[in-house]
Amino acid sequence: MNIFALIVGFAALSGQPKNFAYQDSKAVFVDFQSAEYSLDLNVTDKKATGRTKIRFEQSEAGFVVFDLRSTFQEIRINGEVTTATRMSAPDKVTNFLIVNKATLPGLHDLEVLHTIDKDVSFKNQNASAAFWFSDIDDGELLEQYFPSNLEYDQYQMELLVKVIGNADPFKIFTNGDLLNRNPGEAVIRFPDYYNSAAPYFHLVPAKDFIEISEVFVSNKNKIIPLTIYGKKGASLTRYLMRAKATLNELEADYGSFPHEKLLVYGNELFPGGMEYHGATITNFMALAHEITHSYFGRGIMPSNGDAGWLDEAIASWRDKGYRRVDTLRQTPKHLAQRSPYFRYTPMPAYNQGAEIMAHFDARIVKSGDQRGLKSFLSKMLEDKLFKTWSTEEFQSQLELFTGEDLKSIFNPFVYNKGMNDFSFKNESPAANIFNEFHGRLTPKARKEIL
Ligand SMILES: [Zn+2]
Repeated sequence: MNIFALIVGFAALSGQPKNFAYQDSKAVFVDFQSAEYSLDLNVTDKKATGRTKIRFEQSEAGFVVFDLRSTFQEIRINGEVTTATRMSAPDKVTNFLIVNKATLPGLHDLEVLHTIDKDVSFKNQNASAAFWFSDIDDGELLEQYFPSNLEYDQYQMELLVKVIGNADPFKIFTNGDLLNRNPGEAVIRFPDYYNSAAPYFHLVPAKDFIEISEVFVSNKNKIIPLTIYGKKGASLTRYLMRAKATLNELEADYGSFPHEKLLVYGNELFPGGMEYHGATITNFMALAHEITHSYFGRGIMPSNGDAGWLDEAIASWRDKGYRRVDTLRQTPKHLAQRSPYFRYTPMPAYNQGAEIMAHFDARIVKSGDQRGLKSFLSKMLEDKLFKTWSTEEFQSQLELFTGEDLKSIFNPFVYNKGMNDFSFKNESPAANIFNEFHGRLTPKARKEIL
């Protein structure tokens, strides 16, 4: 912490929810600096244990907010044992953990000992484990497995994995750097711009999986290792062909692939796909959509649930063949400014959102830029790669780019201002109906893809 920060106070990160009154003080959202995660998979005891050490910076005195949806055994703050309580946000749209010991502005350490309750299995003396994320439901990102912050926060993560008593060799598929591997042990270091939606991790018995790899040479002559993997017997070649075609298409439209590598887990049991930074688990149908998210969603990242519609709208606009819509004739929707605490994407992002992008495209073309919205999005990638954006920032940047006041579009169709669509008030994750690109995993499919 520097003196200047002490004097002027800390600026809130984009998408960081407001602190709120809690007990005689405040519940405060903080800025994680780093997280050391360690995962012990004990094949003999059939137990998955997590240990986490987080260093965070706090700008206001109060009780620190973080999240973990697995069971914790012990919590320490600055070495001192405490507890944490699950609390709803003031408007009840989400919930999180609040540390029961108040702390002052400055740097602190949070340590948590916990179990991993989800997406771990022990079969025939072999361990499997994965991070299966979803952003159409609340609390289904990294917090399912490890203590983490909300999407607004980008921080350095390292994951130490130990498999104790494994019968067969295991293999780890990840979008981080696998630093070293002693027998039964691996360290993964993720880039410091990752947030709770970013890390891909899948540990499997090596004998049950197959992979094919190729080098993709990007349009800036950057070497991008491309790996497609799947369960034994899966036909992976068509994934590889489509992945390469999609990379060529996206590079022509938006420039060089932004990540160091592309990892694809092809599995037809997955209902659609899920995007990660330079990685995806997907069925064949959703593959190109998910790779598009490596530019929008996991290249430029939503800072919270109210910004989540942007990348779905862009990816869906692409899926529908980059339509142009001169006049928006849809029912007003509430895509953003729902609540600063929302942590998932609303379903109208896909169809109505794509239509809004198609309209922006037509407006930019009319102003004389034949590349339309792609021209604006390419500029955004140059300015905002591996940073977060909010809907308000997208709007102000688009207004700057077009020289137009776009309130007449954003107010009714995005913010639902002065309109009568109150459906969002009843919106719960369950109201998020099925979408072909991002479906919900049934418990059975969840096990089978592991
Ligand atoms: Zn999507």
